Amino acid sequence: MHDDTRCLQIDDATAPSGFQSLSFPVFRGSTVVFPTVEAYQRRREFFYDGYSYGLYGTPTSRALEARIASLENGATSHVVPSGLAAIVLTILAVAKAGDQVLLPDSVYDPVRTLSDNFLSFLGIQVGYYDPLIGGEIGALLDDRVKLVLVESPGSATMEIQDMAAIVSAARANGSRVAADNTWATPLRFKPLDMGIDFSICAISKYLGGHSDVLMGSVTVRDEVLYRRLRDVSRYLGYGVSPEDCSLVLRGIETLSVRLDRSEANALAVARWLGDRPEVVNVLHPALPSHPGHELWQRDFLGSSGLFSVILQPWTRSHVAAVIESLEFFSIGASWGGTKSIVAVMDPPPVRTATRITEQGPLVRFSIGLEHVDDLLADLERAFRLLEAEMVQPLTPSIRQGI
Ligand SMILES: *Cc1c(COP(=O)(O)O)cnc(C)c1O
Repeated sequence: MHDDTRCLQIDDATAPSGFQSLSFPVFRGSTVVFPTVEAYQRRREFFYDGYSYGLYGTPTSRALEARIASLENGATSHVVPSGLAAIVLTILAVAKAGDQVLLPDSVYDPVRTLSDNFLSFLGIQVGYYDPLIGGEIGALLDDRVKLVLVESPGSATMEIQDMAAIVSAARANGSRVAADNTWATPLRFKPLDMGIDFSICAISKYLGGHSDVLMGSVTVRDEVLYRRLRDVSRYLGYGVSPEDCSLVLRGIETLSVRLDRSEANALAVARWLGDRPEVVNVLHPALPSHPGHELWQRDFLGSSGLFSVILQPWTRSHVAAVIESLEFFSIGASWGGTKSIVAVMDPPPVRTATRITEQGPLVRFSIGLEHVDDLLADLERAFRLLEAEMVQPLTPSIRQGI
């Protein structure tokens, strides 16, 4: 054998005896090698649950999918390149030209962009509904509606939806329901247990958990829906890298402890903000003051680290200076990582079926794993800038009386 050829020899990929690791290996591969011509000809039989081509699954992606399916109380899960890709896939798996899809007005904003610019181009109609509609969604349903998406709490404005009522109306109409379960993660809410057909998760947030992976998942119980998702995913050319899957498998190992810490920190920060005179409203469903608190208690096993506040309108011209002065909060989109992140949304996100009546700037916090005292001290320091600027001290005495 020449050295040129020797460089190309395949090593046995199975773990050498005597070496057993606690981590799942990264299996790379575009080509999947078959022992015989006949096996190669039959490779499509392995498409849904085995290996036919690297784009359609590697042992590492299958291991991740099995882990997510079990956390979601699902039968099967499919991982795709982003959370947005998971939502697109779910919509395209059930809707075609002439069909209709209903989205909550508080939907993750890029889905609105997708819908208004691209689904319409495909002939799929999109309707936006009030996220607080509950069972009255029945009035919007007819046989054109193939999918109702729920997202609870809603992006930025944190509305809690009556998902049970929506599921029962959708069922009665023969429409499928998909839940964007990114905020709660499968550890805090189990959409499939409620009769929801598709549980979608932006893995980029808590499951990845370290702000360094982009991925999404769709989990189902129904084998027909699973096959449909896999088929459409193949048409679209979706695939994920085994390295990224390995990072997510690692992230999931600490998901529970990270969530516990983020949840506790976020509640402390939310309560602290709620006592500030510059804050009009804290939008966090685990606070009893939240209008969806009881529904949240009914359906969820806990909360996570993401919530929003509405500031007094007079703070508007000072918000940037306050946020930029924070030492332990980075300014950015995305969330669910180890480090605290803050995003100022002013003007507030687009709503077309409802109105945001609050006048002040909306600030969204993703609370990380720092020591809560450092976060509170940081906010205390930053809010002193506002104290110096407060024009009308009219609210503090009233608020204290409540
Ligand atoms: C971030 C996010 C997504 C999309 O996830 P990406 O992986 O960034 O595409 C979907 N839904 C919600 C609620 C999100 O916050």
